[in-house]
Amino acid sequence: MTEQHLATLIRNVPDFPQPGIQFKDITTLLQDGAAFRETIELLRVRYADRNLDAIVGVESRGFILSAPLAYALGVGLVPVRKAGKLPSATYRVEYELEYGTNQLEIHRDALQRGARVLVVDDLLATGGTIGAAAALVEQLGGIVEEMAFLIELTFLKGREKLARYPLYSIIQY
Ligand code: AMP
Repeated sequence: MTEQHLATLIRNVPDFPQPGIQFKDITTLLQDGAAFRETIELLRVRYADRNLDAIVGVESRGFILSAPLAYALGVGLVPVRKAGKLPSATYRVEYELEYGTNQLEIHRDALQRGARVLVVDDLLATGGTIGAAAALVEQLGGIVEEMAFLIELTFLKGREKLARYPLYSIIQY
């Protein structure tokens, strides 16, 4: 199965959640067992020999990819969650959205200093979300080995904003 085949399984939903947004719906890929497995397998093969210490997954759809990848690699999973969800002591970062701001948190004891980390989300748009997750990793002394996505919206130029990080996406639009 190729990246091109995986791309055919992603549904484009116009005007969701608001007019003008083309929402990339990954549920149509996830419900295809072979395609879901191939998605995780592509990532597993890419990261198997990178000596990763942790996979950081971003709430919510980032969890869908990061959890099976961490399991497949035998590497621990660290959740980055929306403010107020993590129960123990956290660090919090605020970042800009198109309208307003958003906050993400990580547990203060989630990573060792110097940990080699892969940060995972389903989709790269402007890069604000994953950049905030990377800032939390760095606040704990972790090293962002790479950022990985199923989908990259290249026209939003998130990659340029994140130029100091290695960045990989399976499918580009
Ligand atoms: P950004 O912070 O702009 O890179 O936005 C990335 C986050 O917003 C990811 O967690 C995505 O799940 C979500 N997102 C942004 N744009 C889209 C889109 N067109 N389709 C689906 N999800 C999106």
